[in-house]
Amino acid sequence: MDLAGKQIDPHAYHQKSPVLIRGFFHLPWRTAVLVFWVGWILSCAPTLHKPPSPRVVAPPVEPEIRVCLTDRPATTSLQFLTPYRLQLEEAEYILDRRIGILQVQLSADRVVLRNDKRYFSLPAPARLVFVPDGGTGQFEWNGRVYPGVFSIRLDHSGSYVINQLPLEEYLKGVIPFEMPTGQAEYQEALLAQAVAARTYALYRLRQEPRHPAFHLYADVRDQVYGGLEKVNDRVLEALRRTRGQVLTRSEQVAHVQYHSTCGGYLENYLEPPDSSADLWADRAEDGDNCRISPIYRWIERRDVGTVLQNLQRLGRIDEQDREAWRQQGFAFRLRVNERTTTGRVQSLYIQVADREFTIQGYAIRRVLADSSGRALPSNFFLLVTSPTLPEQFYIIGAGFGHGRGMCQWGALGMALSGANYREILRFYFPAYELKKVYQ
Ligand SMILES: [Zn+2]
Repeated sequence: MDLAGKQIDPHAYHQKSPVLIRGFFHLPWRTAVLVFWVGWILSCAPTLHKPPSPRVVAPPVEPEIRVCLTDRPATTSLQFLTPYRLQLEEAEYILDRRIGILQVQLSADRVVLRNDKRYFSLPAPARLVFVPDGGTGQFEWNGRVYPGVFSIRLDHSGSYVINQLPLEEYLKGVIPFEMPTGQAEYQEALLAQAVAARTYALYRLRQEPRHPAFHLYADVRDQVYGGLEKVNDRVLEALRRTRGQVLTRSEQVAHVQYHSTCGGYLENYLEPPDSSADLWADRAEDGDNCRISPIYRWIERRDVGTVLQNLQRLGRIDEQDREAWRQQGFAFRLRVNERTTTGRVQSLYIQVADREFTIQGYAIRRVLADSSGRALPSNFFLLVTSPTLPEQFYIIGAGFGHGRGMCQWGALGMALSGANYREILRFYFPAYELKKVYQ
């Protein structure tokens, strides 16, 4: 029974064939003979066994990446160094160097581009896409030169300035901002950095983009991208020799991390729980690799007032709390609650008068920031009270950054000792495989 309630006739399909035969016999006899002969000749003709056509698999090509240059409402400057096209509903505009420097005012509900010659204003939601005329182009945004497409996007989720460009072009603006490029003996570390940065970018591009409109941020939330300003021959060589190479695990682009200086001990870590990757751990000991780092060891001094200021910055207390404590006087305690297996502070306990605070993760670096708000270099430290001033204490620490993945100064140290980039990557990412994913 089908859904319409009619009985399906199991013979219905087979009834077609007698109809065809009947049709053949009802043809005029001359036509029937012709059809017979043609059919016979064709049936006798040698069958050409064509080899199955090979499946044409296009070689993977270098992808384009969309980078968010800023996601904050701000006034910035923009100049097109080569001709760019802007297509709007009413007309197409060509903008080039002759337009001069435009001021871009980006607010929550409007974007305004202006200078003494031009004025352009568009309310949200708005999308302005400036495409290089003739394939490649360059624009200057906030004093830095970038290649590729420049776009502004304003919608309910926020306001964004986005640069879209080929992945390898993007890496030209990442490597020199992530690692010193001035010395030839560091070259192999630059190659390792190129692979790590490419892997990270491709992971964001393919597996976990930051936003539907872009893949990653141009700052430390992802990796620092500063345009073409610092590109030099060493950067170009690092990109040429590693082009298309990324670290993979189980045929997937790996989610790699890296940081400035581990201080001698790399942090073991697990993949985030939402990841499908297996449980794995990095190599724990970096030994002396990053001893050459200027922040291998450090000492900072803090006072109680600065910690209270930072607690307020983090929104844990307000101005009235601070004022009341200032007037009444208060007891202050600070101690490490918990450390990771490598010794990094995972949880910090603070008591001010009768209030207790437990600070965890990156917030620890912020609560112990200096008076200007500059966060502590790392969570890898000891607290030492001042022998003379009770409201002061010292923080004796090691390294800079979270300690996970590749230690960049460690990579530089390995390069100085003669390691090549494959050896550096194998050391820091022993569980990953190096693969070329596009030509
Ligand atoms: Zn290190």
